[in-house]
Amino acid sequence: MSDAQQPTDDGGPGDDDFEPIQVFPEAGEMDLRPGADNCYKCSTCDTNCPVAEVDDEFPGPKFQGPEQWRLKRQDDHDIDDSVMKCSNCMRCDSACPSEVPLSQMHNTARAEYVEENMSKLSREYWRNRMLANYRRLAPLGSMFPRTTNFVMGLSATQWLGEKLLGITGEREFPEFATETFREWWTKRGGAQVQNPDKRIAYFHGCYANYNPPEVAKALVRVYEHFGYEIMVPDQHCSGTPMFANGMLEDARRSAETNVRELAWALEDGADIIASCSSCSMSLRQEYPELFDFEGTEDVAANTWDAVEYLRVHEDLEAELEGTSVGDEFDDFAYHAPCHARNQGLDGQTVEVLEAIDGIDAHDVGDSCSGISGTYGWKEENYETSMKIGAEMFEHMEDADAKAGLTECPTCSMQMEHGTGYEITHTLEVLEAALVGPAAEADGQ
Ligand code: SF4
Ligand code: SF4
Repeated sequence: MSDAQQPTDDGGPGDDDFEPIQVFPEAGEMDLRPGADNCYKCSTCDTNCPVAEVDDEFPGPKFQGPEQWRLKRQDDHDIDDSVMKCSNCMRCDSACPSEVPLSQMHNTARAEYVEENMSKLSREYWRNRMLANYRRLAPLGSMFPRTTNFVMGLSATQWLGEKLLGITGEREFPEFATETFREWWTKRGGAQVQNPDKRIAYFHGCYANYNPPEVAKALVRVYEHFGYEIMVPDQHCSGTPMFANGMLEDARRSAETNVRELAWALEDGADIIASCSSCSMSLRQEYPELFDFEGTEDVAANTWDAVEYLRVHEDLEAELEGTSVGDEFDDFAYHAPCHARNQGLDGQTVEVLEAIDGIDAHDVGDSCSGISGTYGWKEENYETSMKIGAEMFEHMEDADAKAGLTECPTCSMQMEHGTGYEITHTLEVLEAALVGPAAEADGQ
């Protein structure tokens, strides 16, 4: 693994601030009451919560976190059902000046609520379980992708999804790739660069594998351009949608596999790279907050965002100097995902792209996109999700750009849904600048 250290001056996961409190005296039991004592009720977290801003009935992070855990000092206190309205955007974590472990409290509270108070026969439970376990359904959809895409694109399917499952019919389901990233990776013969001194293990996550795999292919081409040997370990879902839906045991099973596989890659000298900001957030922050498998801390300390890693380990901006990407691909409205902000990465994309000739990347501000993974896919959250996203939509339209740009797959869905813009990922822009069309020509 690399000797370089992750930046630590941004409150990001390179800090050792996330002291894992003894959350699992025994499996399934958690005690975050001591963390509540750090709260001095300033309400900064509440004023930074995008759900509380548009939904008067949502009591906000201060209640979901410290107040609820204080109440739990009385043993008979049940977790309030409003915890299911928290989108897990984690903005309150960044906002709190007192390092109260808010999202850790929310994740544990949601898990307790689902375990003890949500009927396992309810539509909400099964809908949430399906959304949280996309990775289990995606291989089925990907077996016959054209048929799946046709069926999922029918308005009757969307109507049924809303009536039977409570999945909003307002959104179009993302299409499955006709060839997954992992199929493409195997077909090309895996890594084309062998270099034991520069090795990365790519955590691609579910979306970049089963849905359009262009982001994953772009990562491979960009990293090979810099001479990296790429490993693609076996992996499960990062757990992000499971945390957000209170499915902590599902998340635990996925995390155990991921930590084991990624820890082996670390032993082979690789650093761990993610292209999705929620996946890197999960590996870096949520795993050590919630789990204590052997290797969890090492995996967290050696996980990087794909662009962040190149900025630290290569002279990315110098490599981009003098490159260009053509007229079709040069004017972007950029949205920094909340989970990228939480890792201190919100400014990097615009700074990096300034090095490419002719590129104009407009930062559309610090508002939340509103979709927050599975949150905005739920029928009862759709309107709230769109109200939260309204500021971002407006700023995107004011930017008068040709396309949208972000690093989160579901923010990308919301940006496209709210504006009609085509959305791309920063790695695709880097690929166009550094590698260009030659990649397709050589069959890679
Ligand atoms: S995670 Fe986001 S939605 Fe949930 S309480 Fe914190 S700021 Fe609000
Ligand atoms: S920002 Fe932190 S200290 Fe202030 S009310 Fe929220 S949890 Fe408490």
